[in-house]
Amino acid sequence: MTTNTNTPLTPMLRQYQELKRQHPGTLLFFRLGDFYELFFDDAVTGARELEITLTARHKERGTPIPMCGVPHHAVANHVARLIRKGYRVAICEQTEDASKLKKLVRREVVRIITPGTAIDPNLIESREAIFLAAVCGAGDTFGAAFLDLSTGEFRATEVSGPDAWSRIRADIESYAPRELLYPSTLAPLVKDAYAGRGAHTAPLPLTNHPQDSGSPVAHITPADHVVSNGVGMALTPLDDWLWEPISCATLLLEQFGVRTLEGYGLERKTEAVSAAGSCLRYARESQRAAAAHVSDISFFETYDHLVLDAVTCRNLELTVTQGGGRGNSLFDVLDATVTGMGARLLRSWLLRPSVRRGEIEARHSAVQELSSSQLKRDRVRALLREVADLERLIGRINLGTANPRDLAALKRSLEQVPPILKALSDAESSLLQILRENTEELPEVRELISAAISDDPPINLTDGGAIRDGYDAELDELRALSRNAKQTIAALESRERTRTGISTLRVRFNNVFGYFIEVSKANASRVPADYERRQTLTNAERFSTGELKDLEQRVLGAEGRILEIEARIFSEVRANVAAETKRLQATARALSMLDALVSLAEVAIRRRYNRPVLHDGDEMEIIAGRHPVIEALGETPFVPNNIYLNNSTDRLLIITGPNMGGKSTILRQTALIALMAQMGSFVPAERARLPVLDRIWTRVGASDDLTRGRSTFMVEMTETAAILHNATPRSLVILDEIGRGTATFDGLSIAWAVAEYLHDSPERTAKTLFATHYHELTELADRLPGAQNYQIRVAEREGDIIFLYRIERGRASKSYGIEVARLAGLPPPVIERAREVLQKLERYELDVFADNPDDHVADIPQSGVEEMAGVDALERAASRAGRRALAAQVTLFDTANQSILDELRGIDVETVSSEEAHRILHDLKKRIM
Ligand code: ADP
Repeated sequence: MTTNTNTPLTPMLRQYQELKRQHPGTLLFFRLGDFYELFFDDAVTGARELEITLTARHKERGTPIPMCGVPHHAVANHVARLIRKGYRVAICEQTEDASKLKKLVRREVVRIITPGTAIDPNLIESREAIFLAAVCGAGDTFGAAFLDLSTGEFRATEVSGPDAWSRIRADIESYAPRELLYPSTLAPLVKDAYAGRGAHTAPLPLTNHPQDSGSPVAHITPADHVVSNGVGMALTPLDDWLWEPISCATLLLEQFGVRTLEGYGLERKTEAVSAAGSCLRYARESQRAAAAHVSDISFFETYDHLVLDAVTCRNLELTVTQGGGRGNSLFDVLDATVTGMGARLLRSWLLRPSVRRGEIEARHSAVQELSSSQLKRDRVRALLREVADLERLIGRINLGTANPRDLAALKRSLEQVPPILKALSDAESSLLQILRENTEELPEVRELISAAISDDPPINLTDGGAIRDGYDAELDELRALSRNAKQTIAALESRERTRTGISTLRVRFNNVFGYFIEVSKANASRVPADYERRQTLTNAERFSTGELKDLEQRVLGAEGRILEIEARIFSEVRANVAAETKRLQATARALSMLDALVSLAEVAIRRRYNRPVLHDGDEMEIIAGRHPVIEALGETPFVPNNIYLNNSTDRLLIITGPNMGGKSTILRQTALIALMAQMGSFVPAERARLPVLDRIWTRVGASDDLTRGRSTFMVEMTETAAILHNATPRSLVILDEIGRGTATFDGLSIAWAVAEYLHDSPERTAKTLFATHYHELTELADRLPGAQNYQIRVAEREGDIIFLYRIERGRASKSYGIEVARLAGLPPPVIERAREVLQKLERYELDVFADNPDDHVADIPQSGVEEMAGVDALERAASRAGRRALAAQVTLFDTANQSILDELRGIDVETVSSEEAHRILHDLKKRIM
């Protein structure tokens, strides 16, 4: 379907097409009276996505034009649905009064809403930041910028080095932006990074006209919509010239009203400046507003915070659970904030915990102080509940979309400030004192709103009544006039009833005819001669009189004028408030931090968390630690456990134990305790002494990642590779059953080599927790000085297995797989048979671990060993390969020696020279295990 038809288009549709041409890549919502209409291809898309009826215009003229529409009062919900699906919507309004003019009404696109620039409270979640991101660069330098247009938070970074692209990507994942801008030349890299991750292209018509105007928005192509870190992200390429560094820098200088960007740490950061400039330009263009609340930018290094990549966030279920749902994530457990802005800050602390000990300890001290007084916490939380989302409110004021109720909410919020300051007057911790100093009462703003805006104003200015009586003399006079006229009309009605004797006579009003006298058909013959007939309905007649017309003019004239004055006063007040943006923002930030800290204190008390101790050494000691989420679910009493790690003797903990024994739990709880401490929270442990970590890595074996369309094992190995390349001695690595996604011996060998590598390579000696069901790995602890064995204890009673969830030093003596399989409901004959096989196996056990290079692992099928819950490596291999393989007396070391044998077999003894033979022998001997 195209927009070309053989029939000449009406002037209105030509106007539509011109606007559409100027805004390609968007669904154009075209205002037509009380409706927003979509035409042509947009109508087809809109009707499908919004599940509304597709109709046609000009059916009678031969070529029907597809169309669909939504009533203006319901537009927000419809736009929200489209934005969530990754579409961009251009809102086109009538910008002249339709009733006064016969000709075509002027229309303009007043705003473009995109996934990354949505600010309407209907469109965005209050407890989540909505970031628009931009990335650019090439080779080994990349820059990125992140802008939350709703609040004005603006950050940029730049990375150089061989792994610059992957580091920038980690940052993008951490901010989970709703929309990512990039120069067209970067398209292959961006597509490659996000392709196969559930990407789908939003089916918008591609009608791009780069030559049309200088507007970057005019250059957008339809959004690819991908899912990254649990949220949808629209991919938006912009023309390369829009990223030109000098014009980007100029734009930023103008925006911030400064002469150099040095103060923001952006000197010589060309890519960061380009990304920031493009981000800002796109946001301003889409809003058609200056966005003055974006008043500064902060530069950060990618390692300025504890790095948690997307896989780790998912594995640790920080903000969403593995199933993708919300409700039982760590954030849900930790969030007791009472404002949207507090919740957003807490969330950003959780996703980007601090790496600065001073900052972390300042938060701990504040939490400690707040946790010591229930009274103070209750008081502050009650006051904060009355505080609106000031950050976003200030954003709306600056973007020109704040309504009268927003101003009333601002006033109410500011009224809470003096009592909040009073509650904090005796604060001792430095952070609370700083917050107190940054929280301003702004009495002049409060008084201005108080004086000008009525107590319970309407949402829409056009409903009237937003401005308080007594604020403006002319307004008061007009209101009195209009009120009087209305009373006069009411008096007229009762007079006319008496005069005509028609008791059902009524004076009514509608938008088309204005005021009129309505009389039922039956009484129509009784109306006086001075009544002028205006309209005849089935059951009634409508009339007017000279007096009524007169009154009508007075009422309507006054009402129009009243709305004009209200609009003027409102925008004056709004401008005056906007002038205080910086102070309001500082206050908003301080209040949101107070909310986050009080929330941490509240949760610490409710859940019996304790203050962790941070230190500059390498030891990590957790006494009686608990898993915050499992504990909160409270299904069974949680068994606390101790963990000790350092960078020398205890840097690799190999944890064995039965399935369902609690291995994953202890791993995750250790990571969660470390990250909670660094976000400023108390921790679920009796005591914790912790180093400041730079990064937490978690990899979980055999996790299905079908959405990303990669083989499970490939994903696991790619993720493991990232750890081996990047972990540092300040990192914590959590490896849960890695190597499970392939054949037993492959997996075991890989797990072994990975553990050894992490232990041995000096620059990668990260603290590592390695949970495995490969008992063979416990041998590592005997061989490596920094490795320790731990086991998860279970007890057996009358053939039943009892999970104790206690972790102890030592290796698990056997696998309880069969018991777990029984608990899982495997049929009794299968269980019996498995026991038989196991017994036979165990008889061979000693032999199995003896060194015997004559028989090889190669005799055991290397693939196709099926996963069977809880049956350990050896059992599985045995059940497959049978006794023959067992007799073959496999040892792990044979696997290594196998390659030597293969090489020996490959040597052509006839042709090899004696020196060569000597060298080969020498070499092979060194490699024998
Ligand atoms: P594994 O990784 O060894 O298979 P998990 O760590 O997944 O075992 O634990 C299985 C279940 O056992 C958890 O979902 C939890 O309900 C329970 N569990 C684990 N650790 C504890 C504990 N310390 N106290 C109480 N219940 C626990």
